[in-house]
Amino acid sequence: MKVLTATASGATRHDDFCHAVEGEIVLPSWVVCDSRTCGCDRAFGGLNSHRATTTIMVRDLELTVEDLTTATFGYLESAGWAELLRADADAGDSTDPVAAYALELLVPTLVLAAQLDPGTIIRVAYNRRADAWEYALAS
Ligand SMILES: [Zn+2]
Repeated sequence: MKVLTATASGATRHDDFCHAVEGEIVLPSWVVCDSRTCGCDRAFGGLNSHRATTTIMVRDLELTVEDLTTATFGYLESAGWAELLRADADAGDSTDPVAAYALELLVPTLVLAAQLDPGTIIRVAYNRRADAWEYALAS
């Protein structure tokens, strides 16, 4: 299925960066800070490297939604976010807060990737007023 991945290709702007590993799955940042120069509001992070990229390529990979959910779950565990999600969860709620958040992060990226052709390179930007990620074609 089509997924969003890190790429250094298309990093043509002076403020582009790709610290992630080429080809790894990327997701939106958990936290976007208030700094206008940090870059977290215009980058997605790699599931394995935990490093960010401003340029993102759509790739068609032999992965299922279940594979990607498992990978996202692992990312949240290894990044330490899972522990915070569990600590913040309502005791009476039987929903796994980590699994729920994994889907919350993952599904919008899959919906976006599904609409684009493999090889397409995009940039993302967090719209603070709309509290939403937006994208634009990079190439
Ligand atoms: Zn930041």
